[in-house]
Amino acid sequence: MFKPEKFKGKKACILGLGRSGRQAAALLCRHGFDVLISEEHEMAHLQTLGLPAQAEVETGGHSEKVFACGFIVKSPGIFPKSAVLKEARKRKIPVFSELEVALAFAPKGICVLAVSGTNGKTTTTSLLGEILKEYCARLAPKRRVFVTGNIGAPVSAAVDQMKPKDFLVIEVSSYQLEDSTFFRPKVACLLNITPDHLDHHGGMANYIKAKARLFKNQRANDFAVLNGGNEYCAQMAPKIKGTLTAFSALPNHPLKTDVFFDGDEIIFSAGHHLRPPKLKGIHNVENAMAAALCALAVHVPANIIQTVFDRFEPMEHRIEPFAYHKGVVYVNDSKATNLDSTIIALKSFDRAPRIWLILGGRDKGASYEVLLPYLKMHCKGVLSIGECMDKIERELKGEFPIIRCGTLEKAVQTAAAHAKKGDTVLLSPACSSFDQFKDYEERGRVFKKLVNDYIKKERAGK
Ligand code: ADP
Repeated sequence: MFKPEKFKGKKACILGLGRSGRQAAALLCRHGFDVLISEEHEMAHLQTLGLPAQAEVETGGHSEKVFACGFIVKSPGIFPKSAVLKEARKRKIPVFSELEVALAFAPKGICVLAVSGTNGKTTTTSLLGEILKEYCARLAPKRRVFVTGNIGAPVSAAVDQMKPKDFLVIEVSSYQLEDSTFFRPKVACLLNITPDHLDHHGGMANYIKAKARLFKNQRANDFAVLNGGNEYCAQMAPKIKGTLTAFSALPNHPLKTDVFFDGDEIIFSAGHHLRPPKLKGIHNVENAMAAALCALAVHVPANIIQTVFDRFEPMEHRIEPFAYHKGVVYVNDSKATNLDSTIIALKSFDRAPRIWLILGGRDKGASYEVLLPYLKMHCKGVLSIGECMDKIERELKGEFPIIRCGTLEKAVQTAAAHAKKGDTVLLSPACSSFDQFKDYEERGRVFKKLVNDYIKKERAGK
């Protein structure tokens, strides 16, 4: 376990110059540690990163200096089997996650709520953060809420500002969990597990093991919120020591649940009824169930949860309707970077085939054929873009109409020309964005701009 007193006087090595690495470096510097930041890649514009002035920085590789440090704080993205970590282990240098180092500086008595899962983390974390903020504003004005992890600022950036009884909501990825040995959230929520990041973890078994660490150190007075409809989650139930509540919006589930959806309201076995937020898709009902169970565990009244559900808007890049023109709805789901997410998006629409789907980007290896039943049920046509256009054509041609577009710009023009009143133009690419964009956020923003510019031009032309 990382205890600051135990490591006082020892030099810290921050491995990886990402967001969490930078904040961990700043935190340790603030607390009087000598810090070396070591980054594998060359980095341009180092001076713009806001690194603490007293930290020593090396980029373009890890030198012997790393192994002269007393402990290592590892960035989540670094491969567990990387040479630098192997060597550190050989030399018996303790390695900690940014999460655990940060929490060692948090005041005693804060309430930690952690959300993990393959999909839905950001939506659920955001919902839960909003609910707790509403609760504090109305009923506990001295308590504050910090929403951290993948969704926003790293935990390291928040802990120095916290006071006992404040809420710390953390979106935790499997990468962070895999390095966490002592992490013990008061409320831990696991949304689902489906195959993902298998190359990083070295297979499904390790991925599940990393996720299970969320509950490992919990005790009887802690709370676990689990997806009872997900086979892998359900298998974790017997080992859970805290109070377990389970959710599922599906009718059949391997684990008995404490909440169900009647198609209209979420009904809790404790007696509350809640209308879910106006977000598309049954997966978002599950995200709402999970956020509500976490909030109820820390005694937030149901009417406060309902207030937040009623005003919660779709999040950017996640099945986000953003423009309407001539009866056509334009929806940005740029966050759908794998086939599962695109299927989830298609399933959230009516069964009538009304969608013009923009698909493609950098391929992730799986076959697009799994999309076929959903394309046939929901779509009028596919507009293909990006590096994997040939593969999409090979796998879907003959079975479904494909229009080869290449760029997002061409896809928007083509979709707008084809779409009729009642149709939807959906960007849900099932691929990563790195062939043509910096990241999925840039892809989503460009899509929205192209559509909005097109609509403006059309309207001006009249
Ligand atoms: P994450 O932060 O885990 O990537 P997000 O909340 O950003 O998750 O949602 C990303 C995409 O994952 C959504 O656009 C949707 O396609 C899918 N998704 C969201 N919630 C769920 C869920 N509970 N189950 C399955 N898929 C989901």
